[in-house]
Amino acid sequence: MNKKTKQFLADLINSISPSGYEAPVAKVWKAEAETFADTVSTDTHGNSHAVINPGGSPRVMFAGHYDEIGFQISYIDEKGFLWIQALGGWDPQIAQGQRVQISTKKGIIKGVIGKVAIHMQTPEQRKKVSQIKDLWVDIGAKDRKDAEKMVEIGDPLVIDSGFMEMANDIIVGRAFDDRAGAFVILEAARQLSKLNPKAEIHAVATVQEEIGLRGAITATYGVDPDIGIAVDVTFSTDHPNMADMMKCENKIELGKGPVIARGPNINAKLFDLLVKTAKAEKIPYQISAAPRGTGTDANAIQLNRSGVVAGLVSIPLRYMHSPCETIHLKDLEATAKLLAKTVEKITPRTNFVPF
Ligand SMILES: [Zn+2]
Repeated sequence: MNKKTKQFLADLINSISPSGYEAPVAKVWKAEAETFADTVSTDTHGNSHAVINPGGSPRVMFAGHYDEIGFQISYIDEKGFLWIQALGGWDPQIAQGQRVQISTKKGIIKGVIGKVAIHMQTPEQRKKVSQIKDLWVDIGAKDRKDAEKMVEIGDPLVIDSGFMEMANDIIVGRAFDDRAGAFVILEAARQLSKLNPKAEIHAVATVQEEIGLRGAITATYGVDPDIGIAVDVTFSTDHPNMADMMKCENKIELGKGPVIARGPNINAKLFDLLVKTAKAEKIPYQISAAPRGTGTDANAIQLNRSGVVAGLVSIPLRYMHSPCETIHLKDLEATAKLLAKTVEKITPRTNFVPF
């Protein structure tokens, strides 16, 4: 991956944009889209659209959500401590003891999530699992009045943990779920802009996936695609303590390529086309079984109007919903290529009626 592209990825990761507050990441994503797309726009829900080959047929939509999990300030107490509620699915054990960045109208305010020291806890308290409602944020305020000069009720916050590179092309970031997908769909669109696709392509960075696929619902209705492919992250099984899961889940490893989902949420012919393309182009890939509606934008896409040809391609990820979400750079490149090469093959005559 070249330096400029890697910087775009880092800028996406470092944007503070939990569900409902996607403006900073949208600015980064759209600026990049404007360098090559035919049109770039944002709808009233906040989904951003980059269109390639307008007027082409059929209409293909890529979805990658650009929101992330975070918190929201819900109460400021008289001592100036902030109390928070979750935006998305948190493991409260992960949030404790972390530095945070609060996005306010006046700029970023720094804080920490506090906890009673281990020495001061009773044996019962030590065994107890914390809840989000037990967590508070300390911004160094003297009292409520002082805190209110810095933050407001409803301000969003995220863990202060940015883009980091490790050995062997392994990269770490707070929001690879799903800035990885938002990145990949734009890279696939960029590649398609240089190919000769028959289809009209809409790369859509969706909002509010983490609180119920909400952006994909409105975006898919608006775009009205014939075919929709969601790109998200999925659990890799290549780290310690996954033994129980390994009995029922396929082995998924970082660096072994995109994970193509198969099951009722996926159009069988689109699945076959993705696998055939991966083989023909020598793109490494992995397969996972998805026995129900997935918890991804692919679910909202498939159920739009009278049904949409849906696919789901995922990037393997370790430590989901933590500040240390870990992926492999090569998987991003392989996923973008798989999307571009697959869509290049689709013509108005490609039949996706499953049987
Ligand atoms: Zn998630």
